[in-house]
Amino acid sequence: MAGHRIEIRGTVQGVGFRPWVYRLARRVGVVGRVRNDPRGVTIEAFATKSILDRFVAELQRDTLPAAQIAELRETRIPDENLDAFVIESSDAIGQKALSIPPDLATCEDCRNEILDRHERRFGYAFTNCTACGPRFTIATGIPYDRAATTMSGFLMCAACKAEYDDVQDRRFHAQPNACPECGPALSLDRLDGRAATAINALADAAELLSRGGVVAVKGLGGFHLACDATDGAAVRRLRERKHRDEKPFAVMVGSLAAAQALAEIRADEEALLTAAERPVVLLRRREDAGLAVEVSPDTSLVGLFLPYTPLHHLLLEAVRRPLVMTSANVSDEPICYENDEARERLEGIADAILLHNREIAMRCDDSVSRVIAGVPTLMRRSRGFVPRPFYLSRPVTRPVLACGAHLKNTFCIAMGDTAYFGPHIGDLETVAALDFFEEAIERMQTILEVRPDIVAHDLHPGYLSTRYAKARDDVTLVGVQHHHAHVVSLMAEHGMQGTVLGVAYDGTGFGEDGTSWGGELLLCSAERYERLATFRPIRLAGGDLAMREVWRIGFALLHDAYDGAPPSDSISLLGDVSSKSIELVKQMIERELNAPQARGVGRYFDGLGALALGRARSTYEGQVAIAWDQVANESVSDAYPFEIDRSHTPWEVDLRPAVRAAVDDLRAATPAGDVSARFHNALVAVTAELVKALWADRGELPVALTGGVFQNAWLAGGIEKEISNKNRVLRHSEVPPGDGGIALGQALIADAILGDKG
Ligand SMILES: [Zn+2]
Ligand SMILES: [Zn+2]
Ligand SMILES: [Zn+2]
Repeated sequence: MAGHRIEIRGTVQGVGFRPWVYRLARRVGVVGRVRNDPRGVTIEAFATKSILDRFVAELQRDTLPAAQIAELRETRIPDENLDAFVIESSDAIGQKALSIPPDLATCEDCRNEILDRHERRFGYAFTNCTACGPRFTIATGIPYDRAATTMSGFLMCAACKAEYDDVQDRRFHAQPNACPECGPALSLDRLDGRAATAINALADAAELLSRGGVVAVKGLGGFHLACDATDGAAVRRLRERKHRDEKPFAVMVGSLAAAQALAEIRADEEALLTAAERPVVLLRRREDAGLAVEVSPDTSLVGLFLPYTPLHHLLLEAVRRPLVMTSANVSDEPICYENDEARERLEGIADAILLHNREIAMRCDDSVSRVIAGVPTLMRRSRGFVPRPFYLSRPVTRPVLACGAHLKNTFCIAMGDTAYFGPHIGDLETVAALDFFEEAIERMQTILEVRPDIVAHDLHPGYLSTRYAKARDDVTLVGVQHHHAHVVSLMAEHGMQGTVLGVAYDGTGFGEDGTSWGGELLLCSAERYERLATFRPIRLAGGDLAMREVWRIGFALLHDAYDGAPPSDSISLLGDVSSKSIELVKQMIERELNAPQARGVGRYFDGLGALALGRARSTYEGQVAIAWDQVANESVSDAYPFEIDRSHTPWEVDLRPAVRAAVDDLRAATPAGDVSARFHNALVAVTAELVKALWADRGELPVALTGGVFQNAWLAGGIEKEISNKNRVLRHSEVPPGDGGIALGQALIADAILGDKG
């Protein structure tokens, strides 16, 4: 006999891993024990050497779909005289942290069960097992067991209890285990004044959807608004009622094959689409996709996702066509999650609500991902990922709460050698969003049993997240520069210590000189940063208004590039804007009246996009920048000229020559796709030139590409290609490149700045 301790790190808790190991051990003839530990799972296994080898091989080869083994370490231990293999409970070793896993998409076994009329769970919308089902969104406290979930009010029937108690069963200790006899039930509320006929809520909802209706559907982390994605009138109706003009809607499809009929899907995209986290995946829409144009009117991308609850599977089976599934809210308010709240807030938006009596404890929006220049990247990290921990390569001295940014807010709690992002909160612009933010922080603190007394926040005094931090009593506050946080988040994702050259390109972030930054090359460590290069500022006439009326930025670029006297025919590039408005903006810029300076590379995209595409307005953040990226003609390889002013530190990139060259092209009726490509190429070239020049000065450090602008595949891929032969290029994957990712960096910077002083 030989004894081995096998320590496994990765996603191995709350996914049925221990019972699965137990069954494997029994099958191959291994004795010993398995238990959760703070970092994953530990197995102590005893058998002959050949059996142990087979055991370890099978552990790695046939692992559960929802489990992910990141690391497996084996050490020899002395033999023990045992006669069985046992699962040791977590409580026995007093370990509570990490006990709540993220929500998991319905597994194949459960899906087959609900579609099989011979099964007792046929058609049952709340079917789950240890490998799938709700977790974080139903947890009300710790440790994660049924009493501390919103399933506590449902008493398991004898059949369910038998499954729950049987270690050989795949529902052994599945906390939300339920069946039609004992579990939650669906109902349909009509909001259109008609009486509910509901004998079969699901069939009625499907029927309503098939007739072009809008139905709110209660999901895992909140309500969705659904309608037939092939029916233009239905999608338009939803847009009108939701006050959402053009921002794309996500579409849920019944199967991978159905997704392939709508979009081109490569292997790495398929892996994202079918992962247990089930994010929305941004894909290239097929020309012949039978989707209403109203789904994503101004982009060639479409966000698709597969069903992740039994209710979704059943609904898609009944409707048999793709469904728009968008967060149920008005404009940018947080997602609805309570039954009464939904009835109230969705009146006039949805014709009916398909709901149920299992409460959502924690709202959690869908996650959004995209393969960006070869790297699967989370753009919004929420359902399916929260509260999965990040392991830190250097532990924090004391627990830290980091409040995140203003747009696409998420917060983060770091403690010991782990950090936890909270769910996607969204734009912190409304009271409702602030309430959600505060409530989510409370909930995460409860779950993690921690109340950090160090609070990190952005330097922007006006952000609600900053004000929240400053209103907290008895905490140590640390203000963190926005782009420094972006870079350190990315370093943390790669487990990097030391110093990197950060390239932080985004729309806006508060700079230490009071201007808005966003085209920054920073020499960064966790403790400090040094600003080596930036972009020439643009005046944003009207402040935030310029982000929507992007023609104002277009005009500012012209005004600057031609020293206040742009050629008259260049003004016509601004589209249908009145000369009176233009004159007003000109005055604001010249007199520096409500025209703050902004250096964000994203603003250059907005401004040049407005000129090249004749798009004067953007109805949602980044709309024009996204469209501008997509039109770029890949066969154009030359770049517009630029200059770099190296006369002072930080160096300053001057894109006025690029603007003038683009205007010349546009006046000569050059296609917008060519203009876009040359502009992208200029940004790639100037970034590569800066990096190489700074390397010569400072040594060849790894380069960290971060900020919302790096959702642009052309730029991310192009810069990586230009410089990666010299040193490592860090890109985002699990931490979003945009502002949804900065809280992690804030936490680590606060810890580093305070050091042991805390
Ligand atoms: Zn299952
Ligand atoms: Zn039951
Ligand atoms: Zn940012």
